[in-house]
Amino acid sequence: MKKQAQTFQTTFERSRPILSRVGELAGILSANEIIYEQSSPPDKSNALAYVTNQDENSDGRIDKIHFVVPNLNKYFNNDFSNKAFYNFLKIVGHILLHEKGHEVDFERAKSMQTNDPFPGGESAADAYADRYEEQLDTMIQQTQQQDLQRAAARLKKLKGF
Ligand SMILES: [Zn+2]
Repeated sequence: MKKQAQTFQTTFERSRPILSRVGELAGILSANEIIYEQSSPPDKSNALAYVTNQDENSDGRIDKIHFVVPNLNKYFNNDFSNKAFYNFLKIVGHILLHEKGHEVDFERAKSMQTNDPFPGGESAADAYADRYEEQLDTMIQQTQQQDLQRAAARLKKLKGF
């Protein structure tokens, strides 16, 4: 039987509970709707993901995170194999932290009633991501270790020793 091809979307859905082990990512994954876009926004043709200042329920928070699927496919060379999964966690975790950084900037701007919805720009988003990068790395290492231990246990059973 042929295995169904893994895509960005199926791999992301699989990574959700794992990424949620990092507190900041659990917050963003439960609070924001994830949108899979099939084209990039006109002003950011290379974006892997983006947020806008859209706040439909006017709660001062951003509603959605948009993933730009064609750009992500290109970035990952369409490799969503198990072998590339930890790399996927690292990259997508970083992207989400960066977008969360834009959200924090947006919420601060809103509370201060500034005209620019994102006064901190890219540097604010990067600085936010940097702050949680170590937690992300630790989580990925722990996940990798657990997977290896499970594989070792399976191997033991298989060989009967
Ligand atoms: Zn950005």
